Amino acid sequence: SAKAAGKRQWCLYQPALQAGLMARHELNENLDTAIAESAFRLYYQPIVDLRTGELVAFEALVRWPHDRRGMVLPDEFIALAEESGQIVPLGAWVLERAAQEAAAWHALSTRARAAAGLPPLRVNVNVSARQFRDAGFVDVVRGALRSSGIPPESLVLELTESVLMRRDDRVHTDMGTLGELGVGIAIDDFGTGYSSLSYLREFPISVLKIDKSFIDGLGLSRQQYALVEGITRIAETLDVQVIAEGIEHPEQRDLLAAMGCPLGQGYLFAHPLTAEQAQSFITQHTTPLEPGG
Ligand code: C2E
Ligand code: MG
Ligand code: MG
Ligand code: MG
Repeated sequence: SAKAAGKRQWCLYQPALQAGLMARHELNENLDTAIAESAFRLYYQPIVDLRTGELVAFEALVRWPHDRRGMVLPDEFIALAEESGQIVPLGAWVLERAAQEAAAWHALSTRARAAAGLPPLRVNVNVSARQFRDAGFVDVVRGALRSSGIPPESLVLELTESVLMRRDDRVHTDMGTLGELGVGIAIDDFGTGYSSLSYLREFPISVLKIDKSFIDGLGLSRQQYALVEGITRIAETLDVQVIAEGIEHPEQRDLLAAMGCPLGQGYLFAHPLTAEQAQSFITQHTTPLEPGG
């Protein structure tokens, strides 16, 4: 019977559940140590101009090199760190580190880029809801700007709609303050969950990142194409930049470029790179200054 089957399932799942809880406990303790020792690594994925192929920015993506588990990806520990509050110190470390790295990119490339009419490279940093809601968040952003010396326009905070959904006064005040500071604000994974176009009106949003799930379907259905094109048109009208996420195939890039989507990111261009690889990528993608120029 169904009841018996249910019981059998329960028996089967029980050990797995226990193992899950133990792993979670262990992971939490390890996270504390890793945060204290700054044992995380940031990887950087290029964001490019779809028309010209120019490098525009990098998104910082955190990884956790773990003794036994290998390189642990954020999907395995960010949610956990959010629940426990560990995301607050971890997120502060990410912001500091990413801003420092951006300062190094600027030293490498800003003069040559300016000569080519290009602005300094930007760095996009993911911020979780819990981290954003922490009372010290705006000060962490100010601190990262101050210690790195990068211009505020070079820092873009990627927020998901879970931040914006809570329309309390604090969210509005903090968004206003960040806007005045001059940092960019992106809505990440746009189109998934409850993301709404009204956020674009309510908050100082400068970038919209269209979720990979929409890009996957681009060449497959007219509806998907129309949806992405519509979002691109609206964003353009509101002076909001669009980044298409998860571009894997040249056909996707071509469709996006043809509809006027300005920026993109995905394995087609590059996987997330180590800091060292990102610096070589910059060097390869920057036209050197004329000798003596
Ligand atoms: P996200 O911000 O939407 O980042 C994009 C994710 O898609 C990254 O996964 C990236 O490696 C992956 N990706 C990029 N291009 C492609 C592609 O062409 N195909 C496919 N299949 N995947 C692609 P990653 O690094 O595993 O990060 C997952 C999520 O973890 C991120 O999604 C973000 O929400 C979160 N995350 C990463 N780093 C941080 C961080 O420092 N702080 C916080 N709060 N969250 C972070
Ligand atoms: Mg992101
Ligand atoms: Mg995303
Ligand atoms: Mg995502």
